[in-house]
Amino acid sequence: MSQRDAMQMRAMLLDEPGGRLRRAVVDIPTPGPNEALLKVRSAGVGLTLAHIREATGPTVKFPRIIGHEIAGDIVDVGSGVAILSEGKRCLVHFYLNCWNCKWCRIGRETLCSNLRGNVGTVVDGGFAEYVKLPYQNFIPIPPEMGYEAAAVTADAICTPWHVMKSRAHVKPLDDVLVIGAGGGVGIHAVQVAKLFGARVIAVDISEEKLALCKQYGADEVINSRTHDISQEAHRLTDGKGVEVCADFVGAPETAESGITALSTAGTFVIVGVEPGAFPFNITRLLQEQVITGNRYCSYEEMREVIQVVARGLVKPVVTKRVALEDVEEALDTISRQTLLGRAAISFD
Ligand SMILES: [Zn+2]
Repeated sequence: MSQRDAMQMRAMLLDEPGGRLRRAVVDIPTPGPNEALLKVRSAGVGLTLAHIREATGPTVKFPRIIGHEIAGDIVDVGSGVAILSEGKRCLVHFYLNCWNCKWCRIGRETLCSNLRGNVGTVVDGGFAEYVKLPYQNFIPIPPEMGYEAAAVTADAICTPWHVMKSRAHVKPLDDVLVIGAGGGVGIHAVQVAKLFGARVIAVDISEEKLALCKQYGADEVINSRTHDISQEAHRLTDGKGVEVCADFVGAPETAESGITALSTAGTFVIVGVEPGAFPFNITRLLQEQVITGNRYCSYEEMREVIQVVARGLVKPVVTKRVALEDVEEALDTISRQTLLGRAAISFD
């Protein structure tokens, strides 16, 4: 508690779009009404954050402490907070939604009509020793779940869960094509699709990443640097195509390939999107294919995924750990597209 007593904390600050993160010492925030303060124990580092740093990601108010995959311990609560108390171990749901609109009322909170934004974009996030948020954003985790597993669960596992369960409705016997399968979200998408009984075809750009995909359950792999994704997907399914394609890269060329790889009545889900138009032949939809997008995951799904991970049914894949002050090193590895799975900040 010594640093909290001093009322200041270590943080990594992003001052402007396209900048580098800067080491700083800032005031520890004080929780107001209906807010709580978390001592951060682990924070995930992924592609969205690399995009924010490169000014190609979500809109951010500067200066900002970024970081939205967060787990730790509640150390203080503001007035009006009855259901959280000091010492509670929690992870963070990173959407700041209203809880009053139609979408919040029917369990599709990430479609909130009054969304204020995300943790780490419009309010400070987890690349600091403490983070203050509305109490609703903190979700308790079971004692057997480690902080790093919880942090990664908060996006890199919850997001592909929503993709496979609620957007693509994956069933046993489906062939599922995962594009960007060796990355931080993709490697968990491979595991989730397997858990739902599918046969998984993993797509990525290096043999090292594809070996990781096989290690975590992929049945087939396609190196998109050397092979055409759609042709290979059709070859591997005897010309049928895949019932589901989840595209975690979201470039015009991957989306085009993923849609072309679909079977009759197949579903294509885009997750991360690179800005720009992407043309495709609309007549493909006459076989009743579905093209849809994905927005994070609901609170209900997050509670499911916490149990799934705690039981070991999906394993968090973290291959790089850095101290808070060295997070730039992890972001650089992600920008170079050489990171296998996820990176995380360890605060120990
Ligand atoms: Zn709402």
